[in-house]
Amino acid sequence: MRRTHLLISERAMIPNTSELRQVPTWQSQLARAINDPVELLAAVGLGEEWLPAARAAARLFPLRVPREFVARMRQGDPHDPLLRQVLPLAEECLTAAGFEADPVGDLAAMAVPGVLHKYQGRVLLTVTGACAVHCRYCFRRHFPYADANPAADQWRTALEYIAGDNSITEIILSGGDPLTQSDRRLSQLVRSLESIPHLRRLRLHTRVPIVLPDRVNEEMLAWIRCTRFKTVIVLHINHAREIDHSVRSMAKALKAAGVELLNQSVLLRGVNDSPETLASLSEQLFEVGVLPYYLHMLDRVQGAAHFEVTDSVAKSLMRELSKRLPGYLVPRLVRELPGMPGKISVM
Ligand SMILES: *Cc1c(COP(=O)(O)O)cnc(C)c1O
Ligand code: SF4
Repeated sequence: MRRTHLLISERAMIPNTSELRQVPTWQSQLARAINDPVELLAAVGLGEEWLPAARAAARLFPLRVPREFVARMRQGDPHDPLLRQVLPLAEECLTAAGFEADPVGDLAAMAVPGVLHKYQGRVLLTVTGACAVHCRYCFRRHFPYADANPAADQWRTALEYIAGDNSITEIILSGGDPLTQSDRRLSQLVRSLESIPHLRRLRLHTRVPIVLPDRVNEEMLAWIRCTRFKTVIVLHINHAREIDHSVRSMAKALKAAGVELLNQSVLLRGVNDSPETLASLSEQLFEVGVLPYYLHMLDRVQGAAHFEVTDSVAKSLMRELSKRLPGYLVPRLVRELPGMPGKISVM
């Protein structure tokens, strides 16, 4: 946001060229994201011994990480908690019993293309398959997005479905990551949704503002400010070190626009599986105006077994966390299972 503000004042001073308008900074940042393991290893100061595995694993699920996020990683540390979330490792090529391609039953819950209706009162729209960052543990790594993303004209079917069920009061824009899409596309979708009278809340599940805080620019804030919906943004931060000054400014701007900010994390071995790390995350979130919402048990997706934390370890972590923090800073430990009416509390 700091840089965005700078850009806006620069624009005020220089003649507004169409080039400046067509290429907002976040879109060029997104286009410049690192997708070559050689480049990532060089950027974090790691040697070539990591390369063959990174290449092999990146063939299963491509590497993708914005430079702005890489800049928050420690140099020369293969165990850096931010790096571990994005660096393809040899372990991803192993198969593990019980780890599947669609562990949460998304394909069965697709009501019409692009609409996941699993829980009462809320539906999730898979706005896009694209993400700004590819998280190695993600359950969507095998998701057939091509079948799930309605082109602009096909939203009609989704809108008809939602309009025809007045028990639905909340729309969740997800994906992929909805904030990889242009504000024009998003605001058009939100405007169409606003014409459905029984909808009251709009929620976005996104990680883009963490890896690319500049995404939250004036154009986005403009449609957020003027929607009739109560708006909630659920961010995805796994470690306190993901929060830097640019994330802080981004969160402040969203709060000022009237957005409720929540966070969901995934409990990941080697990233955030200690009471100190989780407590520090909750405290840093609160500092920037975000409340912890869910701490997810890993979805058992092929290629992510090395991130798994067992139930008993997770429960003892939560007991320790509850001792250290006020109740409102303790996220709910949950798991998602196919066919259940909501996320399942693990304790
Ligand atoms: C997780 C999820 C939601 C949201 O659940 P909440 O408990 O309301 O946060 C809604 N729909 C689908 C399909 C989901 O996977
Ligand atoms: S859907 Fe979320 S967790 Fe999965 S790769 Fe995209 S940003 Fe990461």
